[in-house]
Amino acid sequence: MICDVCGGRAVFTRRERSLVHVTESSKRFCAKCFSDWIRERVAQNISSNTMLQDGDRVLACVSGEKDSTVMLHLLDDYARSNGIGAEVFVLSVDEGIGDYRTRCVELVRQHAERRGRDFIDRNFADEHGATLDVIFGARPSDGYRMCMYCCTLRGKTVVDVARKLGVNKIATGLNLNDAVEHAVMCLMKGVIDDQSLPVHVPPGSPVSFISPIFNLSGLECGLFAYVNSIEVLNEDCRYCGEHLRDDISRSLNLLEDANPGILLSLYEGYAALARAGQPSSPVLAAAE
Ligand SMILES: [Zn+2]
Repeated sequence: MICDVCGGRAVFTRRERSLVHVTESSKRFCAKCFSDWIRERVAQNISSNTMLQDGDRVLACVSGEKDSTVMLHLLDDYARSNGIGAEVFVLSVDEGIGDYRTRCVELVRQHAERRGRDFIDRNFADEHGATLDVIFGARPSDGYRMCMYCCTLRGKTVVDVARKLGVNKIATGLNLNDAVEHAVMCLMKGVIDDQSLPVHVPPGSPVSFISPIFNLSGLECGLFAYVNSIEVLNEDCRYCGEHLRDDISRSLNLLEDANPGILLSLYEGYAALARAGQPSSPVLAAAE
């Protein structure tokens, strides 16, 4: 395969199938042109949504997995290459899932230190008195799915750190797959909220949630990390299989395989409804 931009060896094909016509377009990229294309899209996301300005204090929530790690690299590169005087703090939260998160946190520490950004780590045991593994062991037979506990407690931790640091923005690794899964979950509840929009401001909050990679797929994030030698952890959390979103994710991936581009169409359709002025619901899911 040949890159359609420079003629080099292609590593990625962007396909798009028309929702109406029997046509499908494609464009192939080599590793460099793919990276350039991703950087351009994220730069456009940041600039057109005014995500980053001089004087901003930004808390980047980074798990050590591919999406949030790539988000940190792209956000920080954008700030430096555009001379934006923003302070970026890197937060990693250890929920206490065996040694899985401990290894994630150490990796995030290394990324932050190499970039010269302040690193903050928190853990559930100190913040909430129990690890996620302990909560799992004590969960009643009719208890919630584990991600409910995890997202709620992690969100509280993120908001607490943001308040103590006095940041005005929280950057998340929410990607296109996450955003569409969130939309499906909302529709099942009969709710349309604005938490998956590129910028989300909870009612009455001085802090905005920004999602610089909201329109990048998980596959694109993973490939960007790989071709740029950005070390990430690729293991799945042992509890994620419990989450309904895991099933939704698999179904959406099948839909995207058969109809390339449909995830972005779904996102744009849902975002249009959210922008139409539906009431916002409070805070924490954006910290997922
Ligand atoms: Zn190329």
